[in-house]
Amino acid sequence: MCAMISEKLSEDALDFIDDDRLEALAKETPADASAVRDVIAKAMEKQPLTVEETAVLLAADEPELIEEIFQAARRLKESVYGNRIVLFAPLYIGSECVNDCQYCAFRRSNLEAERHTLNDEEIQQQVVALEDVGHKRLILVFGEHPGYDADFIARSVRQVYDVRSGRGEIRRANINAAPLDHAGYVRVKESGIGTYQIFQETYHHSTYARMHPRGTRKGDYLWRLDGLSRAFEAGCDDVGIGALFGLYDWRFEALGLVAHANHLRDRYDVGPHTISFPRLRPAAGTVIDDTWQVSDADFKRLVAILRLSVPYTGLILTAREPAELRREVMGFGVSQIDAGSRIDLGGYTHVGDAQVMQREQFSLGDARTLDEVMRELLTDGYVPSFCTACYRLGRTGEHFMEFAIPGFIRDFCTPNALTTLQEYLTDYASEQTRAAGWKIIKTELAKLPDGEVKDRLIDRLRRIRQSDERDLYV
Ligand code: SAM
Ligand code: SF4
Repeated sequence: MCAMISEKLSEDALDFIDDDRLEALAKETPADASAVRDVIAKAMEKQPLTVEETAVLLAADEPELIEEIFQAARRLKESVYGNRIVLFAPLYIGSECVNDCQYCAFRRSNLEAERHTLNDEEIQQQVVALEDVGHKRLILVFGEHPGYDADFIARSVRQVYDVRSGRGEIRRANINAAPLDHAGYVRVKESGIGTYQIFQETYHHSTYARMHPRGTRKGDYLWRLDGLSRAFEAGCDDVGIGALFGLYDWRFEALGLVAHANHLRDRYDVGPHTISFPRLRPAAGTVIDDTWQVSDADFKRLVAILRLSVPYTGLILTAREPAELRREVMGFGVSQIDAGSRIDLGGYTHVGDAQVMQREQFSLGDARTLDEVMRELLTDGYVPSFCTACYRLGRTGEHFMEFAIPGFIRDFCTPNALTTLQEYLTDYASEQTRAAGWKIIKTELAKLPDGEVKDRLIDRLRRIRQSDERDLYV
């Protein structure tokens, strides 16, 4: 049965990216202030936008209109997500790769890359190091290689969950790896993964073909585009899409992301859980063509427009970006960031801050520690959260949208964010960060209406401060 399913596309698999149509929308949609305001009004009702409506926002180029888009994105973020920012860290498991993606240091033709796959002991050491600074959520990252099949991924996930250091534990392991077949997704789901992420890299067919040589596994555009549809059909309803910005026109890619999100929503009733929008970074042994480089100004527009187009989808901003830009873009609607990240294989136990370019996939823009990032977030008035409650209580997939409503945030998200923050402050924070954190907890408590939800939360916060009780969520 499984053998029959293996290597098959999803049911009615479809290449839903029409390059000519997206190209025309990206280039020919007129800049029209009143159309922009109509689209913003629709977005503020928390309604997902079509690709045509997204194109209207992308066409806005007057500074005043762009500012209106920024303001709207800020307000929408506030009303859907509040001021929480979820934190995670990447854990690179292996850099062997059979593909030859032109932008990536792990590509097989890059002879400068030092290849390595973490063994059991090394995984243990890396996870201990991550737990010891306070991380609870990881994304495990893999090159594409026959050795990194579904069983290997599932085994890595189980190993990560088994590591306990002091009061530390990993409560959610997301995956960024190659697309699997139906049976493969079933296997990895059994290991208890969170989100399965696959980035299309570029939705533009001819650019895709140039970047991913034919004859390589990744060279098959539809196999990759269909990857998360297969995940849905195998029962993984928590998926993340993404595009690598800098390979082609950023407006086209933004439309591709929205088309992909809408396709998944139309087909499976639920859109992607997250969208990632990494910008191309320098990589060892790799010549990066800067023709389609996305400026900081356009990057900010991109984030704000994505926020408006897909209101219920989490937006992930990674440490590829420099600290100052991360700080600025956060307000436009980002809901998850990584912090204290090391992307060189084994990097969490290397001494010193220096990045080892030969062992990593690209270079990072923000190499601050988790504590430094936490302190900045707290000082800026955000509530950093390590919450993993929804996925552990089965509140993912089709449930996600109905729960992403204001009352839910007040009753569940804010309390869970605050208890995980309290854990961090009690167990891991520096003195300065602890002081900033307590201030935020007090402010957030003051905002909550009196009643049972608040009383119970105060009790949980006290138990965390005064005892060994941890992982208290609702
Ligand atoms: N090998 C798997 C794949 O390609 O899907 C999984 C992970 S890959 C290690 C993670 C992502 O890193 C890729 O999907 C790509 O978007 C991104 N990436 C690769 N090279 C990059 C670079 N030079 N700068 C920024 N991001 C890069
Ligand atoms: Fe391999 Fe992924 Fe890098 Fe492509 S992006 S070379 S598939 S690790």
